[in-house]
Amino acid sequence: MKFHTTLFHRFESDGVQFAYVTPTAAVVQLDDVTAEIIENFSDPRGAEPGPWLETLEAERQSEVREAFDELAAMGMLQPVGAPTAPPVQSPPMPFPLATLVLNVTNKCNLSCTYCYEYGEDRVSDQKKPDGTPRLPMMTEETACKSVDFLLESSEGRSGVSITFFGGETLLNFNTIRVATEHAVRRGREVGRPVSFSLTTNATLLSDEVIDFLVEHKFGINISIDGNKGDQDRHRTFSSGRGSYEIILPRIRKLLEKNRPQGRPIGARVTLTAGMAPVPETYHHLIDEIGFDSVGFAPVTSAEDREYALDGGHLGTILRDFEVLSSDYVDAALAGKRHGFSNLHDLIQEIHLGINKSHPCGAGLGLLGVSTEGELGLCHRFVESGEHSLGTIDDGIDEKKRREFLDSTHISNKLACHKCFARPHCSGGCYHEAYVRYKDPTAPNLHYCDWIRAWTDLGLRSYATIALGNPDFLVNYESRPVPKLPVVEKNEGI
Ligand code: SF4
Ligand code: SF4
Repeated sequence: MKFHTTLFHRFESDGVQFAYVTPTAAVVQLDDVTAEIIENFSDPRGAEPGPWLETLEAERQSEVREAFDELAAMGMLQPVGAPTAPPVQSPPMPFPLATLVLNVTNKCNLSCTYCYEYGEDRVSDQKKPDGTPRLPMMTEETACKSVDFLLESSEGRSGVSITFFGGETLLNFNTIRVATEHAVRRGREVGRPVSFSLTTNATLLSDEVIDFLVEHKFGINISIDGNKGDQDRHRTFSSGRGSYEIILPRIRKLLEKNRPQGRPIGARVTLTAGMAPVPETYHHLIDEIGFDSVGFAPVTSAEDREYALDGGHLGTILRDFEVLSSDYVDAALAGKRHGFSNLHDLIQEIHLGINKSHPCGAGLGLLGVSTEGELGLCHRFVESGEHSLGTIDDGIDEKKRREFLDSTHISNKLACHKCFARPHCSGGCYHEAYVRYKDPTAPNLHYCDWIRAWTDLGLRSYATIALGNPDFLVNYESRPVPKLPVVEKNEGI
């Protein structure tokens, strides 16, 4: 039987050769023997291993045979004619939920220039099909019913999570408070603990709110763009006044009260044209303000916006990410944590060998809930009518859910089948695809070069840590919680 190599990406770290094997998402360290095998079997027409082995010196044959078998077991070699595309392995349905994202309000007290709530990329309709306006605030009753719905729909899970989202979530703090207390009580009764997270612009972080969030160990993400100039350029009140001076003391107080017992608090930065370099923003947020981590997400917008990112900007961002990644690796080699969360999350996926059939948990373990209790794929797709997946009263439309997940399975994204980065990207965010192509099932082919370069950077960083301080890898062992609700934009990046 003839064999040939499968899709892989070769890279180097500190002079050591590696391969990232796409079908299995395995990272393989190459030596002279494995490199020789790869060379010999790289022709897609394949080669017979037996006759080739016999051409080698007798004393090498068993060692080479063993290496060949190992590479085949890792998915790097396969028989000619075997399918090269990922097989469809749809999850068993009904798939138990793990996370609900409650859009507790669709109102905001800021008027950020790039916000998808008001921008051209919003999916939701402001009005219902009958023309009446949608409810701006989720009621306590809907929030508590959503909690019950999550606990009923998560049979078999050891724990579940609720993320509060908006608009500005803290405009509806009362509903958050009531729903949280209800969830703690009900979770205890059914033996399924509930954890909480929230994204906020930090303008409404009063003492009462801070105490409550810290007491309930919320995972908190604060949308902030960096220094005063960058924050005030886009993140303004409707009067045009910037928000930096308002949020800074509130954030400091939150960080101070949270530090002794709370979960790490992250800053989420939306990257726009004209901003300070990424490393500068990172150091401002970590060293001068005191955040535990920072994640960066390029803005999504029409190309004619003055803050839109073009190819040149994305190249600069990648170079800036290289700088931060180098700092991250240096810290890891010294056994210390670094707060660049984009790289941390990517390395964690690489270390765990995550090979995604779908780009994110939307529609799978995660659903969004609108202020009125309508279910959507995620927080970005609630209130959109055509993307509705049911309601918390009537339950999930399992047929529609199944059809969507089948159509978005990586096996159906033909353009991605030859891409080494597909275990990580899997076609990218459905919302981004909807904005770009008016089709949430389409792969996001506009940013492939960037994703592949970023994945390569993650692989090189991972390999350097694995070689230099393998003990540090224990920091990536726990499975990542679904991180989608905490990211503002372009979660693929
Ligand atoms: S969208 Fe592009 S980068 Fe992502 S898996 Fe598909 S081809 Fe690769
Ligand atoms: S990656 Fe996109 S589709 Fe998935 S949860 Fe995030 S916004 Fe929704």
